[in-house]
Amino acid sequence: MKRRSFTAFAVAASLGFSLAGGASAESLSDLQKRQQQIESQKSDIQNSITQKEQTITELQKEQDSVTAQIRQLDSKITESESKIRAKEQEIADTKAEIERLRAEIEELKIRIAERTVVLEDRARSIQQSGGSANYIDVLLGAESFSDFVNRATAVTTLVNADKDILQQQENDKKQLEESERKVKEQLASLEEMLAELEKMNAELQKQRTEKDNVMKGLVADEHEAHDHKLNLEEEQELLDSQQASIQAAIQAEKERIAEQERAAAAAAAAKKKAEQEAAAAAAAKAKAKASASAASASVPQAAASEPEPEAEPVVQAAPADSGGMFMRPAQGTFTSGYGQRSLGDHKGVDIAQAGSGVPIVAAADGVVSRSYYSDTYGNAILISHSINGQVYTTVYAHLSERLVNGGSVSKGQTIGYMGNTGRSYGQHLHFEIHKGPWTVGKENAVDPAQYINF
Ligand SMILES: [Zn+2]
Repeated sequence: MKRRSFTAFAVAASLGFSLAGGASAESLSDLQKRQQQIESQKSDIQNSITQKEQTITELQKEQDSVTAQIRQLDSKITESESKIRAKEQEIADTKAEIERLRAEIEELKIRIAERTVVLEDRARSIQQSGGSANYIDVLLGAESFSDFVNRATAVTTLVNADKDILQQQENDKKQLEESERKVKEQLASLEEMLAELEKMNAELQKQRTEKDNVMKGLVADEHEAHDHKLNLEEEQELLDSQQASIQAAIQAEKERIAEQERAAAAAAAAKKKAEQEAAAAAAAKAKAKASASAASASVPQAAASEPEPEAEPVVQAAPADSGGMFMRPAQGTFTSGYGQRSLGDHKGVDIAQAGSGVPIVAAADGVVSRSYYSDTYGNAILISHSINGQVYTTVYAHLSERLVNGGSVSKGQTIGYMGNTGRSYGQHLHFEIHKGPWTVGKENAVDPAQYINF
């Protein structure tokens, strides 16, 4: 933050000083100079706000584009996952087909075994009738031509039948091998396709994760830009209120000068009147010169001296306990309420009081949980309270000085002095009550006006 420490309160304080000191012309030009400075600060801030708004718009555009990409990826993922499911179904079907073929193979094995038995039976019957397993021997052993014909017919039938059986067996075996080969091929190709689909899906998921991260970054950037804008707007608001109070101070100073001039004129008139009276009295005295030491008339004073303004005490009064759950943490003017700023992010109340020794007191009995300096809170004290079984945390920010660093404090005990440290624009106390612990997001913050009459 640049120098923006002078504020409504500082202005009021300097006005109070100038009233006592009476440097009215300088005071007026000072005030007017400050108004101009604030005006230029306001226009700087307005430019920054405009820039932040542009940044936000750009980030939102980028988010829209990433959202569209994510939408596309999601649709591709949906498609690829549906393909994977289909391939998995095909693989399951193919495995069932292999099972079915295996059952068929078992059946065929049984058939082959049965045929072998048939062939062996036939060979045995030929051996029994002809004594030899050899068909030629059977034919050559014919006793007559008709016997030969009979034997030849039988042999031909047997040979053809054997041939058929052997051919059948050969065909069955080939068919079986072919089916098995085809199905195995099919399974291998399905598994390859599934692997490819899964690889593609993994790639899509990876892209999706990358887009998610880009999106998260964009959203975070946008939040940050929003926060900056909020801070700038808050600053703008504070400058506005400063301008208003300076304007009031200028008005008051002008009225004071006019009043001073009226008083001077009245004093001059009174002096003139007194002089005239004195002259008249002198004339009367001259007339009655004879009566010596008859009168010891007192000459009236020209003007009564103004009473000295009372000096402000260094340490002012601490607030009195009004008897609630929490007491008022400081004397002064209630300048800003909970959530009362245009964007509703004020998580506490502000109390302002001029002077160097405005005491800040613990709002209730408790334990100091933190006493530290932060860029935003300035010198800050956090106190934990346990009231009727409920934990509360009170925050006292922008203090000039912290008087406690830990340990127990009691209700009304002075813990520090009001100041203007951290992100503060004029001496004030920023006071928060949290129902529960204090968090960065201030989710537990409650309106202190629920407990305290400000
Ligand atoms: Zn505040």
